[in-house]
Amino acid sequence: MSWTDLARNGRILIVDDAMENIQVLHQALQSEHETLFAMSGEKAIEIARAQKPDLILLDAMMPGMDGYAVCTALRASDATRDIPVIFVTVLNATEDETRALEAGAADFITKPVNAAVVRARVRTHLTIKRQSDILRALTMTDSLTGVANRRCLDETIDSEWRRCARMGEPIALILADIDHFKLYNDEYGHQAGDACLQAVASAMRRAAARPQDLVARYGGEEFAILLPMLDVRGAEVVANKLLAEIELLAIPHARSSTAPSVTLSLGVAALRPADGAHLDSLLKTADALLYQAKSLGRNRCCLPL
Ligand code: GH3
Ligand code: MG
Ligand code: MG
Repeated sequence: MSWTDLARNGRILIVDDAMENIQVLHQALQSEHETLFAMSGEKAIEIARAQKPDLILLDAMMPGMDGYAVCTALRASDATRDIPVIFVTVLNATEDETRALEAGAADFITKPVNAAVVRARVRTHLTIKRQSDILRALTMTDSLTGVANRRCLDETIDSEWRRCARMGEPIALILADIDHFKLYNDEYGHQAGDACLQAVASAMRRAAARPQDLVARYGGEEFAILLPMLDVRGAEVVANKLLAEIELLAIPHARSSTAPSVTLSLGVAALRPADGAHLDSLLKTADALLYQAKSLGRNRCCLPL
């Protein structure tokens, strides 16, 4: 796939208070893209949140909430911030263009629209959007194991912590460390060590399989599993499932004094952000309990009392 192929088949939200304008834009785009419609600013925001279009064509002048207000609102929300907005306007004054760009617009097109121009601008901005999505995904992924990296974990913990605080829900964290992994590398070589890390990461994904669960490589042979909306009992179930998955892998580890195969030690913590708890204490508790699991003999999970 080339960079330009990325622009095909995007989903475009067309926002205009006049049906005939929506039809003109729909005609211009329907052969290459899926289109969605909204006839008011309020409806546009609702659809943008629910359906996550790849791009929005937005009428500047609408009764009630106008295009500038819509664009500002889209930029203010995490869920819609990254969707590019192209303004469609009859106005052609520099100050209106400036206003559109200041509201966060990627570009603007003037009415009456030319179908070829609309298609070309849409393609350009879809390409840019896809490129930045890919780059973002790459900067958030651990290249060896394919799970989230530390940066992604840090960002996700912050946003999930706030979400659980708003909803009065708990949030749990499991820290996992491979036992005697230095000896594993010494015995089987660094490449086998890498393959072991990949297998362990896959087992973690199987153990934490809800869409909101996040498996991340915390560093070296240490992993973290973030479990929003789970309390300590729920997290214990995931931790035990993980230990069972690792046992099932049965990766031979002749030099381990713990077991004949690769094992993990786990520390589990869970808090309710709404109770005034601190994010720091989630990490500190899980880390202290991981240390306890190591000192009690490894290949186990330790939970708060
Ligand atoms: P413990 O049971 O106390 O956790 O002992 P350990 O040997 O697992 O812990 P230690 O921190 O002493 O060693 C971690 C090892 O993990 C050392 C390092 O070479 C290895 N390691 C870290 N990152 C990678 C990696 O990306 N690939 C490979 N193959 N090994 C790695
Ligand atoms: Mg280790
Ligand atoms: Mg370690």
